[in-house]
Amino acid sequence: MDFKYDVPDPSKISPEYDSWKIALGYLLIAGFWIMVSDQLVIFIFNDIDSISIVQTYKGIFFVSVTSYLLFYTLRERIKSYKLLAMKLYDNYSELESTYEELLASEEELEDKIDELNRGKEKIYQQAYFAELTGLPNKNMLHEKIEEMIKADSSSKIIYIMLDLDEFKKINDFHGHEFGDQLLIKLKEKLIKILPKDCHFFHLGGDEFGILYEEDQVIESNIELINNILDIFKDSINIQGHYIYSSASLGISYYPDQANDGAELIKNSEIAMYNAKEKGKNSYKFYEKTMEKKIKDYLQLEKDLKQAIINDEFELFYQPLFDVEKGSVITLEALIRWNKPDQGYISPIDFIPFAEETGLITEIGRWVLQEACRQKKEWREKGYNDFSISINISAKELDDANFYEHLVEQTENKDMDCNNLELEITESDVMENLDKNIKMLDKLRKMGIKVSLDDFGTGYSSLNYLRKMPIDNIKIDRSFIDNIMANQKEMNILSSIIDLSKVIGLNITVEGIENEDQLQFVKDKDCDRAQGYLLARPAPAEEIENYLK
Ligand code: C2E
Ligand code: MG
Ligand code: MG
Repeated sequence: MDFKYDVPDPSKISPEYDSWKIALGYLLIAGFWIMVSDQLVIFIFNDIDSISIVQTYKGIFFVSVTSYLLFYTLRERIKSYKLLAMKLYDNYSELESTYEELLASEEELEDKIDELNRGKEKIYQQAYFAELTGLPNKNMLHEKIEEMIKADSSSKIIYIMLDLDEFKKINDFHGHEFGDQLLIKLKEKLIKILPKDCHFFHLGGDEFGILYEEDQVIESNIELINNILDIFKDSINIQGHYIYSSASLGISYYPDQANDGAELIKNSEIAMYNAKEKGKNSYKFYEKTMEKKIKDYLQLEKDLKQAIINDEFELFYQPLFDVEKGSVITLEALIRWNKPDQGYISPIDFIPFAEETGLITEIGRWVLQEACRQKKEWREKGYNDFSISINISAKELDDANFYEHLVEQTENKDMDCNNLELEITESDVMENLDKNIKMLDKLRKMGIKVSLDDFGTGYSSLNYLRKMPIDNIKIDRSFIDNIMANQKEMNILSSIIDLSKVIGLNITVEGIENEDQLQFVKDKDCDRAQGYLLARPAPAEEIENYLK
């Protein structure tokens, strides 16, 4: 605020000085007046009466003038003090509102700081902890290992990688929420058994990590590992379902087996993949030789993906003959991978791998499409009185779009569904029995025939045979292989055939390689026979000879 008047500087105001100044002024003026005016009056008037009267007027004049001067002086002083007081008052009000503003800003600032801190906390939480389990995550694992390495203690840093087996299946079947709950319950169980000095991480998905130090790694001292694996022996209740799960563990240690943290993690992962190959609920310590296997594995995955893009697959067909008439009833489509640098690769060498990696869905789609196309071509050539049989993996049945794709392909190729058979192995059906039964029912309603492949190698449950919506069973060739030498095997096979007939199923015997086996199949009155003796799998052009 600007002032029009000069405002005194309060520090320069002296009450004593100012008062003395006024009093002294008054004293001088009064003294001067008394002396001068008295002399003047005496000089002008010489009678005492006149002097007395003039003295009275002189006194009145003096008091009036000095009263005015006093009034004037005091007014000017007080005016300037008022100005000062006003300025102070304005400044004070201004200060007061500034103070209030400051207070408000301070609160706002505090809120902002709180918000910022919460944001920082959240970012830290997201960067270093898994959202689902609240456990430290991969980033924290890296930092913790670095910290341990820097500490440079003489003990070994051991890292265990834990990956659940077939967790995807659980997720696909029961839903993600169910899978999440399983992970949380497993985390709780693991926390209970891990020693206090172990660091426990959730690396994402179904992967966990355990990090600790030990003076000496003795690979036979696996108490902790056994304790971890034991957790999976009991079922876990989730939403009223008692579910069994299992995990594979890979273990490696620093500095013997790794030069840094990244290598330690990588090596445990390699060991874990090896444990997975070994089977469910097992562990493996890292070994140098494992790396080649992993490289081969990754190469195969790459090659297989490339094979899909480059169209390197072919279908061979193997006839299934009517035992009585000797005619071809069905052609089973058997995939071959014609790898440019290696020639034909058997499905046994890549189908299980494709199932594991999920590539089977795409491969299966190609098989269905190609088999339907070939069937259409043969139909147009006039070869029509046989059906086509296609092998299906459980993973394909699991695929949400399997049914739609099947309908689309059969409609596109004008395929009569009565001429289509799908082969699925018993163990594949059993993996997800209720769901698969529903799907097989749906397929049969379309007119598609369902065959239970490789019967005798899996559960071989005659009880389940009744429940399964199937039309044929294909008895695995391991049975026929043994029957001639082994009377017991022959009796078992005979019983299976008899029982299947009672249930009303068609019977195919696979793997007929010699006349004795064929005779047995004829004697037992089986419906269909397949085997090298009758016809080997062959490309479509060669197979046309049988059709002719
Ligand atoms: P599978 O469905 O049981 O097919 C029969 C297998 O036995 C074929 O092997 C066939 O060549 C072989 N075989 C037939 N007769 C005889 C015989 O008399 N003696 C002997 N030793 N073997 C015989 P292949 O073609 O190598 O197929 C192996 C398996 O790969 C198939 O067994 C099937 O499970 C799977 N597979 C083949 N093609 C496909 C496909 O397109 N999709 C899926 N998901 N699996 C397939
Ligand atoms: Mg088959
Ligand atoms: Mg078979």
